[in-house]
Amino acid sequence: MEFALLLASGAAAVPSWVLLAYLVAGVCFILALRGLSSPESSRRGNIYGMVGMAIAVATTLATHEIAGIGEILAAIGIGAIIGLTIARRIAMTAMPQLVAAFHSLVGMAAVLVAAAAFLNPGAFGILDAGGDILAVSRIEMALGAAIGAITFSGSVIAFAKLNGNMSGAPILLPMRHVINLGTVAAIVVMTGLYAMSPAAGPGEGALFWIICAAAFAVGFLLIIPIGGADMPVVVSMLNSYSGWAAAAMGFTLGNTAMIITGALVGSSGAILSYIMCRAMNRSFISVIAGGFGQDASSGDKGPAIDRPYKAGSAEDAAFLLGQADKVIIVPGYGMAVAQAQHVLKEMTDHLKAKGVEVKFAIHPVAGRMPGHMNVLLAEANVPYDEVFELEDINSEFAQADVAFVIGANDVTNPAAKTDKSSPIYGMPVLDVEKARTTLFIKRSMGGAGYAGVENELFFRDNTMMLLADAKKMVEEIVKALD
Ligand code: NDP
Repeated sequence: MEFALLLASGAAAVPSWVLLAYLVAGVCFILALRGLSSPESSRRGNIYGMVGMAIAVATTLATHEIAGIGEILAAIGIGAIIGLTIARRIAMTAMPQLVAAFHSLVGMAAVLVAAAAFLNPGAFGILDAGGDILAVSRIEMALGAAIGAITFSGSVIAFAKLNGNMSGAPILLPMRHVINLGTVAAIVVMTGLYAMSPAAGPGEGALFWIICAAAFAVGFLLIIPIGGADMPVVVSMLNSYSGWAAAAMGFTLGNTAMIITGALVGSSGAILSYIMCRAMNRSFISVIAGGFGQDASSGDKGPAIDRPYKAGSAEDAAFLLGQADKVIIVPGYGMAVAQAQHVLKEMTDHLKAKGVEVKFAIHPVAGRMPGHMNVLLAEANVPYDEVFELEDINSEFAQADVAFVIGANDVTNPAAKTDKSSPIYGMPVLDVEKARTTLFIKRSMGGAGYAGVENELFFRDNTMMLLADAKKMVEEIVKALD
């Protein structure tokens, strides 16, 4: 419906083949999103996305008067080389911060397009008969710049937290909700004033730049109070913001493909954030408002390493696993760090050959990006029908002989169920402690999970700690099973 309206509104000015090409690009993007919803079809989804983007870019280049096509092609070439180099070199474990960094670029691009339109409105065709910037274009520019600026500074903070340049713990400023709401309200009021202000009136230029500066501050303020376990929601929320910023700029540039793409990214990111909030038992509003409900006393509680615990060897683990009827494997971030998925698959093949029933339990925020564990297990050719989501498998731990936790911590931490002051309180966790024996692979008793919270399970009677790099430990278990 919306697209039909766009077609109708743009039909007079834009040739119909261009609209058709943008429509085909839009359909490719929808097919891309559909493909990306499952590991089996994700490659096809990526191809649809690339084809759609190629059509959109080629159509835009073919239909606009471009002063320096050589410069544009050079920029595309340089960008492609940088993108290819990053894609080849990036470790899977660094994907979340890379995604945050890319979102920051989208945000900054939106700010720069708005600034260009503001500085040279004639070139963008947004002047009215009197030579003033159209009121509607002022609103689009102010909104695009504001959402872009929030996306930029928010993504920079998210990058710093995910990359370890900043502590993942929440930074809670006094009166932060008042400051955040006040700044957002001020941006809305200033956008209204800017839309109404006479073109040459005093302060018009200043208003635009003040809106940008206030929005940069909001992005920063919204993300610093968000603590470790809620970062996944932040990343998908910033993804959504980057889409809305692009859509707003599509209006300023009069580019239908950009509006469609931006709206698709914006809405799919918003839906993903909502799904993740539900999976994490978090209120959507609380997270986007910047850490509502966080208690200043919660957060970084270092692990207590001087308490007694049971440590085991690869041989002990192999014995327990080999004797079991049912084993549930819980992969986490440490499996990704160690790249232990292939040897883990080998281990499961050995166990299945011995008649052991093996299943994988995936927590929605295990690892450092949505679907992180599913991707790694698919890469190691673990059959999809052995991989289960939290709600589908949690009740089975009570019947399992061994819960085999490989590099996961927060997603098993019972503090989420019992400790109201914990930053992970309320998040559903995998009930690994209900298995007869719980094996935890991690490198040391000192390393906490992403949320920085001590895990009580390490000290339980039915827990055995396997302290080593995950890949090395599983390799030794495989040898012992032979
Ligand atoms: P955690 O970060 O809670 O725990 C990882 C565990 O792996 C630690 O106990 C660590 O202990 C161990 N580990 C690290 N490297 C190795 C290695 N080479 N070999 C063996 N063990 C290793 O991971 P979870 O997957 O349990 O939880 C994910 C956390 O990340 C959640 O808090 C989630 O909210 C957050 N997050 C998730 C995102 C997502 O989208 N999925 C995005 C951003 C954050 P040690 O150092 O002692 O080895």
